[in-house]
Amino acid sequence: MNKIKLMLLLMLLTTAAAAQKSRKKLPVHFDAEKWVEYVEGDMPLVISVPHGGRVTVDSLPIRDCKGAITGVDGRTIELARDIQHYFKKTYNLVPHIIISHIARKHVDQNRELDNKATCGYEKNEKPWHTFHNWVDSALNLASSNGKRAMYIDLHGHGHKNQRLEIGYNLGKSELEKILDETYKHGSKYHSITNLLKQERGLNLKEAIFGEKAFGTFLVNNGVPATPSSQDLVPTKEELFFSGGDNTRRFTSEKYPNVFGLQIECDSSARSEAKRSNTAKGIAEAIVQYLNIYANTQIEAAKK
Ligand SMILES: [Zn+2]
Repeated sequence: MNKIKLMLLLMLLTTAAAAQKSRKKLPVHFDAEKWVEYVEGDMPLVISVPHGGRVTVDSLPIRDCKGAITGVDGRTIELARDIQHYFKKTYNLVPHIIISHIARKHVDQNRELDNKATCGYEKNEKPWHTFHNWVDSALNLASSNGKRAMYIDLHGHGHKNQRLEIGYNLGKSELEKILDETYKHGSKYHSITNLLKQERGLNLKEAIFGEKAFGTFLVNNGVPATPSSQDLVPTKEELFFSGGDNTRRFTSEKYPNVFGLQIECDSSARSEAKRSNTAKGIAEAIVQYLNIYANTQIEAAKK
């Protein structure tokens, strides 16, 4: 084959590969009842949306045990889809996203089964298993071959302070102690324990309050958040969600290459007016975070 022919062949192959890349279509899975959806991704990021669903089913019991919360985290499904679209448009990447469409009245997808997830109604357990099995599969896929992956459990809060609350499974008093460098975590797991085990040079204070903390990246991208270098720790009087059962489960020792956090979005950040800006800020913070801590080299796709 002469040089020109070879060059033409190479050009053809490169164009074909580029076309393939822009055409890639990843599967979207549903269970038979469409109670749970799994958008398969192709990057080391898994987002679950446990409390945005509104589907009610007459034949299923309503959770009624003591302390059962049944409120919807409004517009969190829409926010996850906005994040997905931003990643596709800007980076030609798709995060894994698992959405619960069934209402929290029937199943709380951010509670363990022995912690009021279905209030003991076995009939309601099927979508719980589907949701959790799909998060598990997505994380295994995203962190295969020793790759690091990030897990985010996405929620909406109704607290007064309009800022994102980052839950590392560390409460306000623990955050205070970490800031004072008096925190003794012993064997207690938090949601970035696995990351700290791998990044030996990184300490917990820096990881939560430093220049390269997730909250700091959010604020730098126009999305107010705590804890961060700009908004350290909520005061005693301020309400704060520190992370739930999903974050605990999916960043545990069982997933040694996974680190993550819970994001609780304020109502303003989820509003029609601000949501696309919030999605952009979250996505850009994730890219910065993954490039540093998951050893990725995510760059904006060429137009
Ligand atoms: Zn929630």
